[in-house]
Amino acid sequence: MAQQAGTLALTDAQLGKVQATVALLRQVVRDHGRVIYSNSLGAESMVLTDLIWTQVPEIDIFSIDTGRLHEETYSLMERLERRYQRRMRLVYPDAQAIEAYTGEHGINGFYNGLAERQTCCHIRKIEPFKRAIAGYGAWVTGVRHEQSATRALAKSVDFDTPNGLYKVSPILDWTHDDVWAYIRAHKLPYNPLHDKGFPSIGCSPCTRAVEPGADSRSGRWWWENSDSKECGLHPKVRVVATAKAPA
Ligand code: SF4
Repeated sequence: MAQQAGTLALTDAQLGKVQATVALLRQVVRDHGRVIYSNSLGAESMVLTDLIWTQVPEIDIFSIDTGRLHEETYSLMERLERRYQRRMRLVYPDAQAIEAYTGEHGINGFYNGLAERQTCCHIRKIEPFKRAIAGYGAWVTGVRHEQSATRALAKSVDFDTPNGLYKVSPILDWTHDDVWAYIRAHKLPYNPLHDKGFPSIGCSPCTRAVEPGADSRSGRWWWENSDSKECGLHPKVRVVATAKAPA
């Protein structure tokens, strides 16, 4: 699903998207000063990590280690560090909050219901994210229009009112093929789970492989009935209802 055979050369249109992405990142630095990229370590993140660390290094990068990531994701972090000879800043959840959560709901309490899942995402993702972006003028995300109905409405630069800074989505108009063409052309490392049917990779217990052609977010929190598959980092989200948890 993810890695596709084909030429290593980028088309003129793809090269244009690369140039536009770098230009936007540089403009955001000029406009907003301190800028930080929230790196999810998915395929899009390989593109943005490469562009930022090789062309706009004044943008800081962090990733959130929720404590429940796939082993393949940790190995990927190490491969990125080796390739770019830089450390990925890792931000961690508050240990006491996790202790309290697992004490009340159990180690996999997020399967018990929507509220429990959202509380877990808040502790392991949202709170560390807010801590990481504090003091910055803008944060960068790798969302793309074609990923979901919610993301189809996103703008390349928007004010993120809940977090009080600008949100920049420089690869909104990139297609799945554009992302993988760039990864192949530059021989970038990527998470091997993409080759096993995982278009979107989050925490291990909340992510699974999907059928070819399925919505790229459909493998996230698959036991919930929802009109959006988001953890809360991207606002304007409405989760409708909760279905059965996995057995
Ligand atoms: S994705 Fe799952 S394990 Fe990760 S923070 Fe959200 S509920 Fe918790």
